[in-house]
Amino acid sequence: MHKVAIVGRPNVGKSSLFNRLVGRREAVVADFPGVTRDAKEGVMLYQNHRIVLIDTGGLWSGDEWEEAIRQKAEWAMEGAQCVIFVLDPRDDLSAADYEVAEWLRRLGKPVIVVANKIDNPKHDAYLAELWGLGFGEPLPVSAEHARGLDDLMDRVLDYLPEDDADVPEVAPIRISLIGRPNVGKSSLLNAITGSERVIVSDVPGTTRDSVDVEWDYAGQRFVLVDTAGIRKRPDTSIEEYAMMRSEAAITRSDVILLVLNVTELGDHELKLANLAYDSGKPVIVVVNKWDLVPDEDLKKAEKDLDQKLFHIAFAPRVYTSAINEYGIHDLLAEAMKLYAKWQSRIPTSELNRWLGVWQMRQRVPNFHGKQLKMYFMTQAETAPPTFVIFANRADYVTRSYENFLHNRIREDLQLAGIPVKIVWKEKG
Ligand code: GDP
Ligand code: GDP
Repeated sequence: MHKVAIVGRPNVGKSSLFNRLVGRREAVVADFPGVTRDAKEGVMLYQNHRIVLIDTGGLWSGDEWEEAIRQKAEWAMEGAQCVIFVLDPRDDLSAADYEVAEWLRRLGKPVIVVANKIDNPKHDAYLAELWGLGFGEPLPVSAEHARGLDDLMDRVLDYLPEDDADVPEVAPIRISLIGRPNVGKSSLLNAITGSERVIVSDVPGTTRDSVDVEWDYAGQRFVLVDTAGIRKRPDTSIEEYAMMRSEAAITRSDVILLVLNVTELGDHELKLANLAYDSGKPVIVVVNKWDLVPDEDLKKAEKDLDQKLFHIAFAPRVYTSAINEYGIHDLLAEAMKLYAKWQSRIPTSELNRWLGVWQMRQRVPNFHGKQLKMYFMTQAETAPPTFVIFANRADYVTRSYENFLHNRIREDLQLAGIPVKIVWKEKG
């Protein structure tokens, strides 16, 4: 894996830059020096390269450049192919900046000097002084306004070793946000991508014509599948139309985010969850507007949801507030986890070991004195995981036994939340 370190004095905008590159704005960027204490690591994706970014920011205790910090920084930067040296050129260069420059020169790694907070081209005049550091042309960027980041990453790519093997295409996770109007789907998308690409509106059903939106998070590309193009037919109700749109979205996605409103929750949501699950796609129930539930009612609200969502208990649940950006990391992490499991392939030897265990655990169905015999199990497909079981007679399999197997597969093979299919094949 490629590795790139970010260094610089406190408050120059290292963690803002880090957050921008790793994929999203963090809710809180502290405004006073030295708040982050450790080196932070994150994975980013650029032109199909996965790059580990190290933000050494937390290592600086103050403005001084001390031996202890130097050592920790060297340790954190071990193996990095290049260093992004961030400065805020609106301040004059300090003695510490020159010391760091000297140290970087001795380390012998390629250094890219980045002038941050160049929010508009008028500020470019600030760059002149940075030439004096001796690392060539300083690059103007603005972490806050996402300016100059591609130029920066192009420079970084110059220093990364060519991969011998072809760089595998990083498959995007296609997700869709479904749910009734006004639950906060567009607001969630904005919170996730940190952008205003989608129109948020207070009138139910006003998100129109947007196309697929893409973004990167923690080295993973996501695509939000939109369903523009489905026209509401005059003879369909709003509910029917919403259902049609959702069906189209489900077909085109890998993971479905079913967004709910705690106060309005009914058959519609259960239907959608089952629709997604039946089509073999994992579903995450996103309970949005969680900020509206008063602290003292949180436990009770969760209990209510347990009850109301009993029939779709298979779907993992994440609590979010699009407005406070609460739960967004959890949501994306859950999506990545489910996607990986949905794609996973379990070795045949492991499956057959479990098949043995399951036959001992519960008596196999017995049909007028004749027994179901299961000989062999293998995984034929992924996404959704599809298991083929060879048996003497498929018609001996009872519904309750199949349920038992589904439960075992989910638990013992760690596929909770993943739709799983079993196919029976007869073999003499
Ligand atoms: P760090 O200590 O180097 O990690 O710096 P932070 O990322 O915490 O940023 C310090 C301050 O600079 C914060 O108030 C940020 O909002 C601000 N900042 C970061 N990047 C930019 C930028 O590109 N333009 C402007 N104007 N301010 C920025
Ligand atoms: P959509 O129709 O599902 O895309 O919903 P929108 O994103 O347009 O949001 C509908 C309304 O709910 C807007 O007024 C949002 O500001 C508000 N909203 C969205 N998410 C939240 C949240 O997490 N908390 C609160 N309090 N309001 C939210």
